[in-house]
Amino acid sequence: RDLAVSATCLPGDPANGVVMVLHNITELRRLENLRQEFVANVSHELKTPLASIKAFAETLRLGAMSDPENNLKFVDRIEEQAERLHQLILDMLQIARVESGEEAFEITDVCVNKVVETCFKHNTDAAERKEIQLVVEPPASPITVYADEDGLTTILDNLIGNAIKYTPENGRVTVRWHEEEDQMLLEVQDTGIGIAPEHHTRVFERFYRADKARSRELGGTGLGLSIVKHLCQAFGGSVNLCSRPGEGSTFQVRLPLS
Ligand code: ADP
Repeated sequence: RDLAVSATCLPGDPANGVVMVLHNITELRRLENLRQEFVANVSHELKTPLASIKAFAETLRLGAMSDPENNLKFVDRIEEQAERLHQLILDMLQIARVESGEEAFEITDVCVNKVVETCFKHNTDAAERKEIQLVVEPPASPITVYADEDGLTTILDNLIGNAIKYTPENGRVTVRWHEEEDQMLLEVQDTGIGIAPEHHTRVFERFYRADKARSRELGGTGLGLSIVKHLCQAFGGSVNLCSRPGEGSTFQVRLPLS
């Protein structure tokens, strides 16, 4: 089914015969399916916040504007949805760059302590809003990995951001790392809702969510873990997950040491 045939008659006597070339188009077909699926997902993801923005704006125009109690609420909702669209577009651009190999990485020695410190600063407000404790457990002596500093920051921002997002109030998020053979093993552990085993490999796929409604409500784009996986692979490493529903999650990132 996945073979395309092209045939050429040899010149001169018909008895000279025909040259037939078989092209395996399995890969082309797979790429085309992926493209179609991506376009369908993107359209769907864009439609939802746009529909909300339209509906809130229309409600304001139809009278809510004269109700000072409510109009600010509607403006807040519009801002929230616009922010969601913005994040979605940023994530889509990033995943397109990383997947196509066009992202220009500066692979060099990166101090993990420094990156964790930066990411904690980025996530402090979100953690404080939910009274979630951010705990850091660094190794006895600092570790340096061979990666791109911005890329590693994106990996950790996504994992720590998710850990906070999917952990109820008063929970705990711990980041620890150490050397394991010739790699660094970094863990982001939370005391959150956890992930059922059937979702473990799928959560790294584009737009896949274990719980669609919850992710959307929390402002998720469904692209974060896919970006994390691509970046880890681009740096010669990997990411995996240990989790059970109700027992929290631990994401493990392995990267080559300097
Ligand atoms: P999203 O933007 O929806 O958070 P991600 O790609 O970052 O998308 O994650 C994919 C899905 O994996 C999420 O929708 C959520 O269901 C699940 N998930 C990710 N991180 C966690 C976590 N720390 N705890 C529980 N579920 C998580």
